[in-house]
Amino acid sequence: MPTSPSEPAGPAPADLAIVGAGPAGLAAAVTAAGLGLRVTVLDTGERPGGQFYRQPAPGLGAARPQALHHAWPEFATREAALRAHESAGRITYLPLHHVWTVVPGPDASQDADGEAATHAAPEAHAQTAAPRTWTLHAIRGDEAQTTVHAAAVLLATGAYERQLPFPGWTLPGVVGAGGAQAMLKGGLVLPGRRVVVAGSGPLLLAVAGSLAAAGAAVPAVVEAAAYTAYAARTPVLLRNPGKLAEAAAYGAALARHRVRLLTRHAVTEAHGTARVEAVTIARLDRDWRPLPGTARRIPCDALAVGHGLVPQLELGTGLGCATRRSPDGTVALDLDAEQRTSVPGVWSAGETGGIGGAQLALVEGELAAHSIAAALRGTPAAAPGGPAVRHGARPGGRLPRLVRTRARLRAFADAMAAAHRPGPGWTGWLRDDAVACRCEEVPAGTIREAAAELGARDARTVKLLTRAGMGWCQGRMCGPAVAALAGEAPAPDRRPLSCPVPLRRLAELPPDAH
Ligand SMILES: Cc1cc2nc3c(=O)[nH]c(=O)nc-3n(C[C@H](O)[C@H](O)[C@H](O)COP(=O)(O)OP(=O)(O)OC[C@H]3O[C@@H](n4cnc5c(N)ncnc54)[C@H](O)[C@@H]3O)c2cc1C
Repeated sequence: MPTSPSEPAGPAPADLAIVGAGPAGLAAAVTAAGLGLRVTVLDTGERPGGQFYRQPAPGLGAARPQALHHAWPEFATREAALRAHESAGRITYLPLHHVWTVVPGPDASQDADGEAATHAAPEAHAQTAAPRTWTLHAIRGDEAQTTVHAAAVLLATGAYERQLPFPGWTLPGVVGAGGAQAMLKGGLVLPGRRVVVAGSGPLLLAVAGSLAAAGAAVPAVVEAAAYTAYAARTPVLLRNPGKLAEAAAYGAALARHRVRLLTRHAVTEAHGTARVEAVTIARLDRDWRPLPGTARRIPCDALAVGHGLVPQLELGTGLGCATRRSPDGTVALDLDAEQRTSVPGVWSAGETGGIGGAQLALVEGELAAHSIAAALRGTPAAAPGGPAVRHGARPGGRLPRLVRTRARLRAFADAMAAAHRPGPGWTGWLRDDAVACRCEEVPAGTIREAAAELGARDARTVKLLTRAGMGWCQGRMCGPAVAALAGEAPAPDRRPLSCPVPLRRLAELPPDAH
């Protein structure tokens, strides 16, 4: 059903459109297809797997991509299922497709060729007051447009890295911690030979372990939080022995490669001319303020730095989905026990509901698929104490087990998020001349001036006065820093489009989609 004369027809209408083929989207797709739904999966990546199961580019001819991963079988079985469902016509998988907006409608009854856009039970829609269909607009690498229609939408768009700036962070050789991991998994390259890993969060341990195993020297992992923060959450830790074992494995790998772990320390400056040559690290107080007299240099030729992850929410907030503040200070979608957003007909799973890791994303994807199948068919769903549990889902069966696993892993994720939440003192290492917004090259001093002297009280006013956040990344990189300098917590994403789109694609939209 093209929406303009120049637009080629998209795939046939689906029951479920999934945005993202990471662990959450992939698990949801194969589960939903297994439950008999027609599924369309759109993903910006060339291969399924998302960030965690990022695979080497096909041209590199990697013989054993799994060597860079743990928990690979979890992915391999689902990828095989995806391919089988694709061959059978139950899943349409669209790689290299970036969904830039999702809009309600059109109503299935208005379908031009008279075909119902869904085989969902009509009473399901009446029950949830959901629109009859959703339209997803996606753009491919060659800027061609694809339009997908579906009865239900699952947002599984993952997260991006949180960067807290410091003097020298724009030098070549300074890369995101997750970015370093992506370079290694996707490009089979190291960011340098001697790489300091810094920031906050458990991802640092995984990154340092991978870099060291791949042959880099890692002089230190510099973690701003104190691991003693976990001690206050002992019951949650004890309910997650798998996570403790994972942490122990990371610790052992670091010890094997003689990598020092410095907690309550931060990189406060990167030095170099053509590229990074050394970093200054300093001890922090409990609010992440650098302690005077504790600074020292570590020579290196690369720095992998990240301060946790930020849920990627543009499509959800664009649809009006309610959000919540996570314990790490980031904003996540507010989801119920069945992964439903506050907008009927729209579900979400994985990092969009709060940073929690690949295992949780797999569980949530599967849970969402069961909930969606139940909603479209008007049959009982999966919530604890909800209809599925009351009407026959066996107490020891799959759904109650998924619900329990999700609750356990979410509790762990919340404990982790609280432990690594940035302390307010980190702006103390951000000198006035340090670039805060790298797209528009706005120094921290200009933002402080806007807040202190020009009366800016929020990131939006700072943006209007200084252009911070107005560049290519639209504040994804500098948003948390600009908000902190303006004295507020980061606000929910308010970006009407999730990626840059040629104007002609906007002009082609039917009037009611604008
Ligand atoms: C750079 C980076 C590296 C990471 N490395 C590790 C690691 O080494 N170890 C570890 O334990 N955890 C790592 N993580 C965290 C890990 O990615 C998550 O825990 C896990 O992958 C979550 O799964 P997900 O399905 O929610 O999201 P993801 O795996 O992030 O998958 C989301 C998918 O959605 C796609 N997408 C997003 N927006 C759109 C859109 N608008 N249209 C179409 N597709 C879209 C993305 O391309 C991606 O394929 C990393 C995170 C990041 C950001």
